[in-house]
Amino acid sequence: MTYPDTRLFIDDDWRDGEDGRSLDVQNPATGEVIGRVARASRRDLDHAADSVRRGFEVWRDYTPAQRAAIMHRAAGLVRERVDEIADLMTREQGKPLFEAKGEILAGADIIDWFADEGLRVYGRTVPHRADPSIRQLVVKDPVGPVAAFTPWNFPINQVVRKLGACLATGCSMVVKAPEETPASPAALVRAFQDAGLPAGVLALVYGDPAEISEYLIAHPAIRKITFTGSTAVGKQLAELAGRNMKRVSMELGGHAPVIVCEDADVELAVKTMAKAKFRNAGQVCISPTRFLVHESVRQDFAKALAQSATGVSVGDGLAEGTQMGPLANSRRLDAMSSLYDDAVGRGAATLAGGERIGDAGNFWAPTVLDDVPSDARLFNEEPFGPVAAIRGFTDLDEAITEANRLSYGLAGYAFTRSLAAADTLTRKVEVGMLWVNMPAMPSAELPFGGVKDSGYGSEGGHEAMEAYLNTRSVSIAH
Ligand code: NAD
Repeated sequence: MTYPDTRLFIDDDWRDGEDGRSLDVQNPATGEVIGRVARASRRDLDHAADSVRRGFEVWRDYTPAQRAAIMHRAAGLVRERVDEIADLMTREQGKPLFEAKGEILAGADIIDWFADEGLRVYGRTVPHRADPSIRQLVVKDPVGPVAAFTPWNFPINQVVRKLGACLATGCSMVVKAPEETPASPAALVRAFQDAGLPAGVLALVYGDPAEISEYLIAHPAIRKITFTGSTAVGKQLAELAGRNMKRVSMELGGHAPVIVCEDADVELAVKTMAKAKFRNAGQVCISPTRFLVHESVRQDFAKALAQSATGVSVGDGLAEGTQMGPLANSRRLDAMSSLYDDAVGRGAATLAGGERIGDAGNFWAPTVLDDVPSDARLFNEEPFGPVAAIRGFTDLDEAITEANRLSYGLAGYAFTRSLAAADTLTRKVEVGMLWVNMPAMPSAELPFGGVKDSGYGSEGGHEAMEAYLNTRSVSIAH
């Protein structure tokens, strides 16, 4: 299979950037340049913003059922094309084929779910206090054209979590998808085009992220911004949005604590967390990272987690049997070695991994560190890589204090057989999503998002729909 060059999609038309510039796309498993992606100029961005302004006027007048029919058709096409799209995703992002397929099929389900949820956007009537002839209505309207900025770790799903609610509510969207993984999101957009999405409802651009976000956030056609990525960039974009009074959803970084209590099912904790830690080579915003393990079970837990890490088969995502691929870009490889050196320099013990594999491609061995001091960078900065950091605790309050110490508040995990401990954790751990005695299962119908520096807004459940709706009141006397 060949890897295609990726073009911009504006006004139902696939095109190069007006000034003909483009960027290289690399395969992270080999370091080879495999294709190019068009780079949008200011004029392209103007065209894109104008097109989604026009597209919005058309799409808002489709009924929810008409919108749902097109969305279901697009989801069906994504399913039909899963093998082809997965191949592109693995070549550009690195994840194993089975993970790429899983992401794409989950993406199709998310589109279907939002299509149906669009049928359930209702207003309400509120009786007037004094005059029964006055009709008071609460109406829900689409917010308008949206600018979405999506990252490279889940090239399809980061788009569909935004696009699903956007289209279902009657909004239009210009997506700035990741330059490093451009072909799979383009295949998603093509499925919507082929499903009959009217011209202008969706545009896709690539280029210089800072230049594009600065321009589109201020653009008068754009009414809402949605971003997934690092907290540092999220804060910059939220500031720009604030200056322009635009609605905002922010899905930012995390540093998920995993609290393993003395009464935990240690085998279950190891099995579920090892799988979660090394999925997508740890480049997941809800990846478990800070393992806080009761001293009475710490040794058993650490030993078993290290054993699982050593058993992970690392290689090219296209190869049969690969369980973990390379990191998506060389920045992550640099980050792994510097976080690792810092932790070990401060006294952490290496139980597994801790080194680059080979010298071609961005492979980093699944790594488990024990006794990681809380001032190690690894215990404070989001590693976004296949590294688990363990510390012991003796008292549940101590673990909760450590879990809440960082400004992040996205995902959290806990393992306990005690109902009382589960209840305490539910009330006290400051995260947007908590999973107790189980792996993360962020289905479309559940709210997905963080608290504190992990952002605001939700990308799941009915709450995700609200993020794309204006609520207005209308009163009619006659
Ligand atoms: P980064 O912070 O430079 O970029 C993160 C994402 O934001 C990328 O997709 C990038 O294209 C985009 N971006 C960067 N600057 C932007 C701007 N001014 N305007 C619009 N978009 C912009 O870092 P990176 O090296 O690509 O990724 C590293 C860090 O990003 C990770 O450590 C992780 O914290 C975070 N990240 C989080 C997620 C997530 O799912 N929440 C996904 C990818 C990256």
